[in-house]
Amino acid sequence: MDRFKDKVVIITGGGSGLGQATALQLAKEGAKLSLVDLNEKGLEETKVKISEAAPTAEIILITANVADPQASQNYVNKTMETFGKIDGFFNNAGIEGKQDLTEDFGVDEFDKVLNVNLKGVFYGLKYVLKVMKEQGFGSIVNTASVGGIRGVGNQSGYAASKHGVVGLTRNSAIEYGQYGITINAIAPGAIMTPMVEGSLKQIGGENWEEAGKEFVSVNPMKRFGKPEEVANVVSFLLSGEATFVNAAVINIDGGQSYKY
Ligand code: NAD
Repeated sequence: MDRFKDKVVIITGGGSGLGQATALQLAKEGAKLSLVDLNEKGLEETKVKISEAAPTAEIILITANVADPQASQNYVNKTMETFGKIDGFFNNAGIEGKQDLTEDFGVDEFDKVLNVNLKGVFYGLKYVLKVMKEQGFGSIVNTASVGGIRGVGNQSGYAASKHGVVGLTRNSAIEYGQYGITINAIAPGAIMTPMVEGSLKQIGGENWEEAGKEFVSVNPMKRFGKPEEVANVVSFLLSGEATFVNAAVINIDGGQSYKY
């Protein structure tokens, strides 16, 4: 498949997990990629993987903090200077934060998680949408979470930020549909990435693998999701095959969030 031939896509959080898996998938399908991450080493790792899987792919790496509005404007500018347009945007970088009951949840921790997960997504939308509106085309996928549509517990910052991402998605989608732009969100459940490994270590310590087994025992599919399974959905939404899907929040969780 070459659904992304001549298409330019920005991916934040492209140095790990869901962003890296999506970068690989899109590169294999011909995309030109602008990969953004705070972690320079992670970006280099993604570049090596892409050069093995799709040696002719054109990519640029941008080390940036999405929680900084100027840095967000810069990654958009660099993408435009290099490639001249933005067809797709996977607005994905995020952190979980330290788990705690609401009464014990750190005030600084709450700010930190909201700055990355909510404000970072807003800045990305703000600067990318200006370009896409002028172009008259584009598609955006924001990464929310099951924690953005359900209560999970011990995650005040994460839950508030991801519910906020769903709100931003719906608000911008109704504003920009008229310009030929689609904006959707994904709500992944537990997908095995470094973030989820970190989360399980917060719950189970050294026995995190056991905690993982218990965690997925209530999932209808009795397993974790794979980053590639998320990449497939994101690719579809950004590919030009989903042109009338707008303002949707798509669960990728094996059905768990509908279980009573
Ligand atoms: P991950 O930790 O593997 O990858 C996240 C990437 O984002 C990392 O490379 C990290 O360096 C980068 N990042 C973090 N803060 C940043 C910042 N301020 N600026 C730029 N880059 C930054 O995690 P993942 O599982 O791939 O998570 C990706 C997204 O998916 C996150 O928004 C997360 O909340 C969401 N999510 C993940 C799961 C899951 O089960 N893995 C479930 C629901 C939602």
